[in-house]
Amino acid sequence: MKAHVTLIACLLIVSTWAQANQPVVVSTWKFGMQANEAAWEVLSKGGRALDAVETGVRVTEADPNNASVGIGGTPDEQGNVTLDACIMDETGDCGSVAFLQNILHPISVARKVMEETRHVMLVGKGAEEFAYEQGFEKTDLLTAKAEARWKKWRAENEEGKKQEINAENHDTIGMIALDKDGNLSGACTTSGAGFKIHGRVGDSPIIGAGMFVDNEVGGAVATGWGEAVIRISGSHLVVELMRQGHSPTEACRLAVERLISKNPDWKDIQVGFLALNKKGEYGAYCIQPGFQYAAYDPDNGNQLFDGDSRLAKKAN
Ligand code: ASP
Repeated sequence: MKAHVTLIACLLIVSTWAQANQPVVVSTWKFGMQANEAAWEVLSKGGRALDAVETGVRVTEADPNNASVGIGGTPDEQGNVTLDACIMDETGDCGSVAFLQNILHPISVARKVMEETRHVMLVGKGAEEFAYEQGFEKTDLLTAKAEARWKKWRAENEEGKKQEINAENHDTIGMIALDKDGNLSGACTTSGAGFKIHGRVGDSPIIGAGMFVDNEVGGAVATGWGEAVIRISGSHLVVELMRQGHSPTEACRLAVERLISKNPDWKDIQVGFLALNKKGEYGAYCIQPGFQYAAYDPDNGNQLFDGDSRLAKKAN
């Protein structure tokens, strides 16, 4: 009898272990490596994917040397750093801020919008006032370096000049994580397109465009020219393609093809999608070569990959 009980207990332990998920976190660009490390601290201790993605992207937001996210981000054409961010959890709950100024961690304000209000999205002055009410401090986000970039741009009157496609003038951190309970969450945060028109909002804070998570299927994030991503509800499209059975890479590729079909200027822009499915499989696809992403899983550690790209594979 005792032996039976012990056997049943062992079987239960083994089957629970077999069902436990391997955590995985993926994020955009090379700076995703550092963000993944912070997210992994949360995931490896059994933490929630939502906490992992918030913790991860906060690293990038706080880096003054990153010219496309948070403090130190390239300002708009009037010299203001304006930030966009969104977050989404395993229940489909989500929060977002756009055109937010003077706040170091827009992702955490987005989380407060999700958790403390009955709304999804706050913008501009209203979002900033809400942040102060929630205890966030006013922070000057325009670093000397970013101001110098802006002054140079203004002096050269570069408004019409083409910017380098993969350069730091537009790169977002988007992150998707899967935790040990098999739950997915995502976060996305950016200072948006450099020297944009004052008031411009890109894809990054728009749920379904810059980021989307469906806990039954997977999650996706976008980076690059936000206007093109919004036109096809990019991240939502990637998740729906995964729902139809496509692998993360193939879903990202099909979304890039859709985007190409709707944007005649596609050869002049960069857009990359990155996706993680419920099984922990991940992949990316972009228009121009040069988009990198970071993935951290327990078997391989933290690795940097080149996303497959349309223009690297096919003749122009
Ligand atoms: N998608 C962002 C935007 O358009 C910027 C980027 O990822 O490069 O604001």
